This record gives sequence, C-alpha cells and structure tokens, in this order.
Amino acid sequence: MACSNLAMMNYYGNPITRLIEQLSALPGIGGKSAQRLAFHIIHMPEEKVEALSSAILNAKQQVHYCTVCCNLTDGEICPVCANPKRDHQTIMVVEDPRDMAAYERTKEFHGVYHVLHGAISPMTGIGPNDIHIKELVQRIDDTVSEVILATNPNVEGEATAMYISRLLKPLGVKVTRIANGVPVGGDLEYVDEVTLSRALEGRREI
Ligand code: ZN
Repeated sequence: MACSNLAMMNYYGNPITRLIEQLSALPGIGGKSAQRLAFHIIHMPEEKVEALSSAILNAKQQVHYCTVCCNLTDGEICPVCANPKRDHQTIMVVEDPRDMAAYERTKEFHGVYHVLHGAISPMTGIGPNDIHIKELVQRIDDTVSEVILATNPNVEGEATAMYISRLLKPLGVKVTRIANGVPVGGDLEYVDEVTLSRALEGRREI
C-alpha cells in the first residue's frame, strides 16, 4: 500500500513528505509517481512552481458548474449553452465533462449537453440525488424535443439511463439511448470519434 511506503519516506523531511502525500492522493498517481513528481517540483525554478500552484488554485476558484448544463465553466453559462447556433431542443446527457469533449471532437453533434458528474452506483453508494439529475429534469419543457442518454455503456451507465428515462417519459419528451457501437464497459472518453458518431447515429428511442 502507498501509505506504508509514505510512512517510510519521512527521511526526506516533512515538507517533501507532505508534498508526496498530497500528490499521491490524486487519481492515478501511485507512491512512486508522487515521489518522482515531488522531486521534479523541488528542482523546478521557483517561478515555474508558482505558475503551477497558482494555475491549480485559479482553476479551483474560477471554475464552477454552468447554471444550465452543469458543464465546467468560468462564466455563468458555458460556451455551448451560450452559443445560439447550437440546437437547444436536443440535450445529450453525459456522465462527465470529458465525455462531452469526446462528442465535441466528433463534430457530429450540434445540440446541447447535460453533465451529470457521475452515474448511479449502488455499489459505491452513489444515488440519484448525488448526481445532477434534478437539474436535467428542471430543463425539460416544451422547447426540448429530444434527450439523448449517452451515459457509459456499463452497469452504472445503463442503470442511470434507465432511471432518467423513467423520470422523463411522463414529461412527454422523446428519450433515446446511444447505440451499442461503444464497446460494453467502455469509457466514452477513450472511444474513437468514428465509433462515437456511429453510436449517436444509431440511437434508439427507449
Ligand atoms: Zn452549459
């Protein structure tokens, strides 16, 4: 475990041990990577370290959720929601801002998005109220013609799609699910653009 490794690292002195601890708490950074990054940072010129730390702090302080779609933005409304050329009648529901970025790269989708920031997962205790489903329901009115459920094609994503579909159907809006072109268990972020475009084209009403 990383913790026991970290406990042994006290011989580096407290400041660097703290830095290693903070870095290893980040996703995908193990004890060894954290150590490598920490030593890299220590050897960086001070102004570069200042630029890095202020970029982290500024991003945290200035970025928040778009008041319409919950995408990350530094304005009141994100650039997609603010764009009058987008089709505001079609809302694509994604789990993560990275999924939205993946669909944007296909250049095939001209509607707007709704970012849930997660998926329903009873296994890890994430319920419907822990993700931004309520905000989606509040967006549904006569001007919305279709909601495309583009949650990941894994157990959590499917459960989330079914839950949202059941919530939205009584509101009289067309609800569709992206096709199975996306590999089962796949993470949308890593799927290539052609596959994503096909999944979007092949969507079916549910
Ligand atoms: Zn937005």
